[in-house]
Amino acid sequence: MKRNLTRCRTICLAIVALILAPLACVAQTPVEPGIPILAYHRFDPSTTGPTTVRTPVLERQLDWLETHQYQVVPLSQVVDALRGGGRDMLRADTGHAVAITVDDGHVSVYTQLYPIILRRNVPVTLFIYPSAISNASYALTWEQLAEMVKSGLVEVQSHTFWHPDFRKERARRTSDDYRAFVNSQLVRSRSTLERRLGARVDMLAWPFGIIDADLQSAAERAGYRAAFAYEGGCAVPGSPPYALPRIPVSNQAGAAFGALLAPASARKPPP
Ligand SMILES: [Zn+2]
Repeated sequence: MKRNLTRCRTICLAIVALILAPLACVAQTPVEPGIPILAYHRFDPSTTGPTTVRTPVLERQLDWLETHQYQVVPLSQVVDALRGGGRDMLRADTGHAVAITVDDGHVSVYTQLYPIILRRNVPVTLFIYPSAISNASYALTWEQLAEMVKSGLVEVQSHTFWHPDFRKERARRTSDDYRAFVNSQLVRSRSTLERRLGARVDMLAWPFGIIDADLQSAAERAGYRAAFAYEGGCAVPGSPPYALPRIPVSNQAGAAFGALLAPASARKPPP
């Protein structure tokens, strides 16, 4: 009887090993090390717009990330991983990572988004142009920004000083004047944010997603370590450091939202 039990257990273990073997192979399959960096603007409980995400939809998007084992990480960690350049490091540390960024400093970041990320403990990076803060009627105040930064979940980075259209500015200025203007937009934004919020600012999102080689060099000279586009899919180690891709998000939910992140989530499920 005892011998029969032992034999049964041996057979059972062999069957389990056979079942698990293909899973182990799948687990060792190289994973595309892209990291989605999501880009948002505004939030509203009921109204949608091209750059306004309804808060119930945002909640569904965050649910989707959680269900699919994505971990929302601070943007600075993504940049660290990308600059490390190692595909292995990306796979080991941030293979399932996603970052959330929000441009422009609309007041709904405080009234709508902030309570949600506090409840869910989700880190977010805000790209801010300081000329609007405590000034434009639609914008956040310095007090709101300071409160959010204090929470430890919100990182504030630069979106230039007053959100210019660099293409237009280039067309209407002399080349020397344009160069000085670009430098001023990059440096003044950074120094103002650092002075007002006491936090390090070394990342930049390009206004209107306008990027060219001169602007990328200017960002590097101004002391930024990374700058972000407003399109382009997942960021990978070979992505240009001053034109890192992001994924604009609107009101996609469920599979449509998942499709936005597809390059990084195209991991084959076990057979
Ligand atoms: Zn913007």
